[in-house]
Amino acid sequence: MQPLEVMAQEFQAYKNGGGTRISKTLLAAGAVLVLVIFALSGQSPSSGSANTFQPGPPIAALAPPGECAFGEEWSPAPLVDRKKVSDDAVLLRFGLADGRSLGLSTCACLLAQGAGVVRPYTPVSTNALSGAFELLVKVYPEGALSKHLATIPIGSSVNFKHIPKNVKIQYPFPATRIGMIAGGSGVTPFVQALHAILGTPEDKTEVTLLASHRTRADALAVEAFDAWAAASKGRLRAITTLTREPANSAWAGRRGRLDARTLKAFLPPPVPDVLIFVCGPPAMYESLCGPRDDPELTGVLRDLGYSKDQVIKF
Ligand SMILES: Cc1cc2nc3c(=O)[nH]c(=O)nc-3n(C[C@H](O)[C@H](O)[C@H](O)COP(=O)(O)OP(=O)(O)OC[C@H]3O[C@@H](n4cnc5c(N)ncnc54)[C@H](O)[C@@H]3O)c2cc1C
Repeated sequence: MQPLEVMAQEFQAYKNGGGTRISKTLLAAGAVLVLVIFALSGQSPSSGSANTFQPGPPIAALAPPGECAFGEEWSPAPLVDRKKVSDDAVLLRFGLADGRSLGLSTCACLLAQGAGVVRPYTPVSTNALSGAFELLVKVYPEGALSKHLATIPIGSSVNFKHIPKNVKIQYPFPATRIGMIAGGSGVTPFVQALHAILGTPEDKTEVTLLASHRTRADALAVEAFDAWAAASKGRLRAITTLTREPANSAWAGRRGRLDARTLKAFLPPPVPDVLIFVCGPPAMYESLCGPRDDPELTGVLRDLGYSKDQVIKF
């Protein structure tokens, strides 16, 4: 299925009553606005390169914790579609019985089981999608579950569950300014969070997203975030930095790691009403805020003056 069809299906599902808490009129206006911006910018949500993830307009189809289609026991879902969206990432679509929606709160993730291991994944589709949900998965050459998910035949089942620990900070987020720091597949919770923030027109939260990837070819969701930023009337600023892009490539954006200087230049300052979200590989947590499972704050963000209550480790 093409992204535009997905978007249309999500919108239709919402019109049919699949969404919650937002006005249908405002959603329709938002969808039309983003389509107009795509048209004016010469881009089409469905006509970009095949190597891109394009989620369509932001949609705030919110559900409270406790309504997820998956509970604390494993339950299977069939893989119904798989698309390559970057050099090393796939968008996977899993079916849900009886046309129901995932009913996942924002932000939250699922646990998936396969190849003898269990790993968390953060769905990038919204609850407005009926009968399915989508995962954006970066595939590692030696990765047990990511490789399994990238190679199993369409129609195979994968076991999922959702436990209380998978429920993260909940929308509406208690901040007027949010800095989001993502590394690699760490963009996925921010797709979820931005659907909620930007899909709620009365939400005035200002967001700066700093995403770090190795190369342009493996950078995830760059076009999606750029399109959302362009349509956001200043509510979203999206900055991508590449750490291993060849020096002679056409990339005109930022290069280099997310260090103290870059964070200080782009993040909202460490004042009340500011939150910083971090999601990325272990080395990123180590250097920016300390290990993911350690509630204490260390590293660059502490040195810049943020408190541990301001920094949310996803
Ligand atoms: C809360 C949470 C949500 C997540 N959501 C997503 C998501 O939506 N999409 C997604 O693709 N991933 C997500 N992840 C990461 C995911 O859970 C797995 O860790 C990842 O898919 C690798 O699992 P694997 O079994 O394939 O690799 P493993 O067998 O665990 O690891 C094999 C090798 O792969 C490499 N590797 C594995 N993980 C990483 C990493 N994070 N960064 C760099 N190298 C790595 C290392 O070289 C490692 O030695 C999430 C993680 C967390 C904690």
